[in-house]
Amino acid sequence: MRSESAEATERAGADLAALLRPGDVVLVSGDLGAGKTTFVRGALRALGVTEAVTSPTFVVGVLYDGAVGPLAHLDLYRLAGLADEDPGLLDPYFGPDTVTFVEWPERAESEELLGGRAIARHVTLAHAGGDARTIEVAP
Ligand code: ADP
Ligand code: MG
Repeated sequence: MRSESAEATERAGADLAALLRPGDVVLVSGDLGAGKTTFVRGALRALGVTEAVTSPTFVVGVLYDGAVGPLAHLDLYRLAGLADEDPGLLDPYFGPDTVTFVEWPERAESEELLGGRAIARHVTLAHAGGDARTIEVAP
């Protein structure tokens, strides 16, 4: 789809959120400023998060209490790769009841390292001139 505003990207996140189930992992890819955090914010809001949603900057992730269960928002941008990290680094952010959103999943080097969990959706955002963005949601 095409989004013409940050609000429309938040709505796209909310629309996806309505389809998610506990344990789902959503990978969110795209360049800096493409709208990954904006998309995740819309999804987290729809899932009951009322506090501010910003990109986790000094920590790898943030946990929230959602309306239905735990929610996690990871940003792996600053990770050089998971191979050199504590193997349990990401464990708190994945679980059978947790819905997990991952920005910069490419940094993990392989999807198996992302908690070994099934990936529910791959979301890709891209700049399309000005405030326009393309948003693709794939299984
Ligand atoms: P990322 O997490 O991909 O680096 P952010 O969501 O943090 O990107 O930032 C996107 C920036 O672009 C925000 O300042 C947002 O307000 C702005 N923006 C403008 N148009 C859009 C749009 N259509 N979708 C998403 N963000 C947009
Ligand atoms: Mg971001």
